[in-house]
Amino acid sequence: MAFIVKKIISGKGYYYLNENKRADGKVKKKASIYLGKTKKEAEKKAKEFLAKLKKDSGKNSDAEEELEKKKISIEELAVFCKRKGFVYQSGEIYGGFAGFWDFGHLGVELKNNIKNEWWKFHVTQRGDIVGIDGSIITHPMIWKASGHLDNFSDVFVICKKCKKPNKIDKRELGKAKCDCGGEYDEKSAKDFQLMFKTKVGETEEAYLRPETAQLIFSNFKSVYENSRRKLPFGIAQIGKAFRNEIAPRDFLFRSREFEQMEIEYFVKSGSICLYKIPNEEILVYSAEAQENNQEPVKMKLKEAFEKEIIKKDWHAYWLGISFSWFKKLGANPENFRIRQHRKDELAHYSSDCWDLEYKFPFGWRELEGIADRGNFDLVQHEKFSKKDLKIFDEETKEKMFPEVVCEPSLGVERSFLVFILDGYYYSKKRENVVLKLNPKLSPIKAAVFPIVKQKEFENLAKMVVEDLQQEFFVVYDESGSIGRRYSRNDESGTPYCITIDEKSLKNKDVTVRWRDTAEQVRIKIKDLREALRKAIGGEDILKFGKAVNTRKK
Ligand SMILES: [Zn+2]
Repeated sequence: MAFIVKKIISGKGYYYLNENKRADGKVKKKASIYLGKTKKEAEKKAKEFLAKLKKDSGKNSDAEEELEKKKISIEELAVFCKRKGFVYQSGEIYGGFAGFWDFGHLGVELKNNIKNEWWKFHVTQRGDIVGIDGSIITHPMIWKASGHLDNFSDVFVICKKCKKPNKIDKRELGKAKCDCGGEYDEKSAKDFQLMFKTKVGETEEAYLRPETAQLIFSNFKSVYENSRRKLPFGIAQIGKAFRNEIAPRDFLFRSREFEQMEIEYFVKSGSICLYKIPNEEILVYSAEAQENNQEPVKMKLKEAFEKEIIKKDWHAYWLGISFSWFKKLGANPENFRIRQHRKDELAHYSSDCWDLEYKFPFGWRELEGIADRGNFDLVQHEKFSKKDLKIFDEETKEKMFPEVVCEPSLGVERSFLVFILDGYYYSKKRENVVLKLNPKLSPIKAAVFPIVKQKEFENLAKMVVEDLQQEFFVVYDESGSIGRRYSRNDESGTPYCITIDEKSLKNKDVTVRWRDTAEQVRIKIKDLREALRKAIGGEDILKFGKAVNTRKK
């Protein structure tokens, strides 16, 4: 509501346009606009201003406004994650422990949902991939065979100017400079083993795994035989890995303890891809374009393969699968690109490597690596273990090593950042953040509110909660105004807010509010669980009942 007021200041009259707005159940006064010194002048100006306001807000000024996409820095994101209970710095009460993070009550749910969706998409729903769960402290010979013990190190250096420690690649020694512009002190340079060492029993040295992949290779033969697989097939694993990073940074992006979701996909050497390359379009950044200082080009993955930019059909296929998983769960495709490793970047075992990259607030960075490892790992483990790790080829009647044509390797925490960053919106009308997570990923699926603190409403609300809890993570919330409860849940990414009101007692139905548009629908309590299940699965919640007119008069 806008209205003209006259204020008397030092004996003179001034006209202002004031606006009252309801927020969190209270009337709030918005900043007033100066209209002039005479009533006539004020009325004219107010009319012009309101007409402009109506024009600016579009034809239907009563409809819910579009949510505004908010770009935030990684530091702001960390603050938000802490405030809401997604992520805390580990050991915070003791001043924090750099490179380690704890997940709070919302964070653990989001993380579990990400892992479950990944497993469903890559294992359960496919048929050609099985899983394992290997140990974290592993046989030391595994890391000897894999090359990690001898090669998995960085060079530790100290900046002459700002005195900060950093790590650089061996090849950058003498060339690389610190972010502050200072040179590194070459005398300070020393090799730094990235694996965490521990002791088993009194004397035996062992390591915390720096990647999950080697557990797949060391178990390969058993899994192959016991699961009765034929090539091509894959082995997947989700689990923790540890790297003693010299300079952990960018919140969850580079930490010392993290979780990987990995697949080793085994094929017979030279075999063509059995699956269709997903029909996805994405920015493609070839090694050649990088070397010639050209920009990445948007094209279909199939086209990139046909033009021989992506050399292997399997790579094009897996890049498409990885990208489509993110898209399916609501990530913004504009923030993704694929980048080929230049020759000087290729790992010792890899002949071609592509990364799925994401535009983080601090720039384009690796999200998921799709390395081609050949048969390097199995050959190494056979050599060191002296066990026959070859399999029998029915066609040639000979024994052979299968090759890992693709190793999609994704960090759980990096995916976590992607979904929160892409889901982070702001509503001016509601004056709060709206975390537009795909309902499958949302930590809390529904919040149930009794409209007032009275026994009959509370009892019905608790009954609804108990029923929904059989299937979903649901919360009961009775504190604060309805507006405050909505905004709290918008920020947590809760897709559905369920209110028990006077009509609920009589009609046995509830109001369900959809987070993204604030539209509401009345649904019978007996149909609620099924409606929620379908809505989380991707259907529109508004079709499961009668729409509620929430437009303010
Ligand atoms: Zn420096």
